[in-house]
Formats: sequence, C-alpha cells, structure tokens
Amino acid sequence: MNKNRIEVIQGDITKSEVDAIVNAANTSLLGGGGVDGAIHMAAGSALLAECRTLNGCPTGEAKITRGYRLPAKHVIHTPGPRWRDGEHGEPELLASCYRNCLRVAAENHCATVDFPSISTGVYHFPLEQAAEIAIRTIAETLEHYSSIRRVRMVCFDARTQKAYEKALEAL
Ligand code: ADP
Repeated sequence: MNKNRIEVIQGDITKSEVDAIVNAANTSLLGGGGVDGAIHMAAGSALLAECRTLNGCPTGEAKITRGYRLPAKHVIHTPGPRWRDGEHGEPELLASCYRNCLRVAAENHCATVDFPSISTGVYHFPLEQAAEIAIRTIAETLEHYSSIRRVRMVCFDARTQKAYEKALEAL
C-alpha cells in the first residue's frame, strides 16, 4: 500500500539528508523568499548558477539540479500555482507539481524525496485543500514508481503538519 511510503514530519527541509528535496520555486527559478530563499542560502551560489542555465520553468512542471552544499543530493524545482480564486486551474496545477516532481525523481534514480508544502506560503493556496491534493496525488503517483522508497512532507510549522497528517489519515 502506497500509504506506507508516505510520511509527514515537522522540520527544516534544508537539513534533509535525502536523494532529492523539492523547492517551491517561482517560474524564474532565480530564487525568492520562503523555502526557496532558505534552499538557495543553504546550497550556496553554485545552485543559482545552475538554475540560470535552465531558462525558468512553467507553473506545475519540474526541473532538477544538484544539491551543492545541501545534505540533499538533488533539488527538484517546481513553481506552484499562486492562489487566485480556485477557478484558474489552481488544484490541477498543484497536483501537476507533485506528479512531475515524482516523475523527475524516478527518472533520476532518487529513492527518497522530501517535499515542502507547495503554494501554501506566499502563494496563499488554502492549506487543507492543498494537503488533500498533495497526499492524494503522491499516493496515486507512487503506483507508477516502485523505485521511490519514501516520500516525506516536511512541514515547517505545527499547523501545516496537522493538516498533512489529517489528509494522510483520511487516505
Ligand atoms: P509558496 O510560494 O509556494 O507558497 P513559500 O516558501 O512561501 O512557498 O511557502 C511554502 C511552505 O514552505 C510554507 O508552509 C512555509 O512555511 C514553508 N517553509 C519555509 N521555509 C521552510 C523550510 N526551511 N523547510 C520547510 N518548509 C519551509
């Protein structure tokens, strides 16, 4: 059962010792605030130099780089949707982020993948809905990728952790 391969923890994703962490990036891939800023700060300027070669990334898609000074081997960058009113494809785009990140992870032989709560920070996606979409999409996508051993949602605060735990229990 895929549920056994999904975990929810509270923590700082820049400390994750995994094959790949996911960055809730913006479409420029040139850094920003929140988790994006924290990842670039911890990885060092070589990460930004590699990101400059990628020519950005559309919302919902994903591109991989090395992890540089991070304990994670790779960073998978995905721009989440900015919440407007829910009528502009936001749920589908958020699901695409999780799906494409896991595809890119599998293609690059990453067996352990850590995600932050994509879009629920400055992009204001409603937390409970985001958690439900994230957990459901991860569980569905893992059906296709037996090489991915463990996926964790790394939640920065207790409220976020509770929302993802609830979504996982409801699965
Ligand atoms: P977005 O623009 O996709 O909303 P944010 O970075 O603003 O991205 O927020 C996404 C989530 O990442 C929020 O829950 C925020 O609290 C969280 N976050 C911020 N820093 C870290 C970190 N170092 N590790 C894990 N999560 C983080």
